Amino acid sequence: MSIRQLPDTLINQIAAGEVVERPASVVKELVENALDAGARRVDIDLEEGGVRLIRIRDDGAGISPEELPLAISRHATSKIASLDDLEGVTTLGFRGEALPSIASVSRFALSSRRIGEDRGAMLEVDGGRVGEIAPKPHPQGTTVEVRDLFFNVPARRKFLKAERTELGHIEEWLRQLALARPDVELRVSHNGKPTRRWKGEGDLVDMGLSDTRISEALGEEFAKNALRVEHSGADLRLHGWIAQPSYNRASADQQYLYVNGRAVRDRSIAHAVKQAYADVLFHGRQPAYVLFLELDPRRVDVNVHPAKHEVRFRDARLIHDFVYRTLNDALAETRAGMAQQASA
Ligand code: ADP
Ligand code: MG
Repeated sequence: MSIRQLPDTLINQIAAGEVVERPASVVKELVENALDAGARRVDIDLEEGGVRLIRIRDDGAGISPEELPLAISRHATSKIASLDDLEGVTTLGFRGEALPSIASVSRFALSSRRIGEDRGAMLEVDGGRVGEIAPKPHPQGTTVEVRDLFFNVPARRKFLKAERTELGHIEEWLRQLALARPDVELRVSHNGKPTRRWKGEGDLVDMGLSDTRISEALGEEFAKNALRVEHSGADLRLHGWIAQPSYNRASADQQYLYVNGRAVRDRSIAHAVKQAYADVLFHGRQPAYVLFLELDPRRVDVNVHPAKHEVRFRDARLIHDFVYRTLNDALAETRAGMAQQASA
């Protein structure tokens, strides 16, 4: 076979393989775009676990009619313009590939009205085939509609699970988001019925999460047993909540870690936490926590994976030790209490 250049739609479908695993990944990418656009409220309407429909509407800055085609073009982004920007990036997105990827594997519509403009417009894409920009009334902000996910990629569609399961993945992701952004209102509906409302709690205060948000997201038991963590040093800040050892889990299902506001998985930090709990938890039990690590964006590379689930730290060892020491100190009183009980 001779070497040939692949058509754009196929390139986007290949990229979609990395970014769009299931409906929850679409919700993630679209809500992150809404947050990057400064939205205060995001409406999330779903049908059939998001497979039939995902509609995300925000009240953010919006997109100009003439920029709609750019928004769905590959490697087109308003978030970075240079390597230097990339290295200090603070937005959730920057790769410019979510919208074109999603649009290539669904029936897709993007409607928007840009802040300060009085005309709205819409652009439809059907399985990668791009339509014409059409005028459309729209409040300030953006609506993205994704119908029939993977309708043109049967191999992918086959791997979608039952409606309940897909909805569960979406809800879990929204919980993760609600913990990080209590300042934004999120309203969710499924099959026409409102299912969840995360109320916006005003400005994101420095202290972070309210008790209400914590118990809404993780349950009252967690909230009752949570210790506050707040520690800064070496230009690092770790804050959030960790559960007393008496509240522990069979699995790692309540371990939320955010690096500069982005939910990530990190083995080194997970290890540091585990180590801090090592002598106060029974073997095989898992700690529960919501932790936010803040540091200069230049000390962390977020461009490790297309879906950005992982990051790479410039000084991983230092960060590991910082987290370990902070949590070890936070658990010191508990540890002393346990020792006293044991000797009594
Ligand atoms: P990225 O987020 O990496 O820039 P995307 O493909 O997700 O790439 O989006 C492409 C561009 O479209 C964004 O850079 C942004 O300018 C615009 N855009 C996408 N969604 C929204 C939205 N909800 N509100 C405003 N602009 C948006
Ligand atoms: Mg994006």
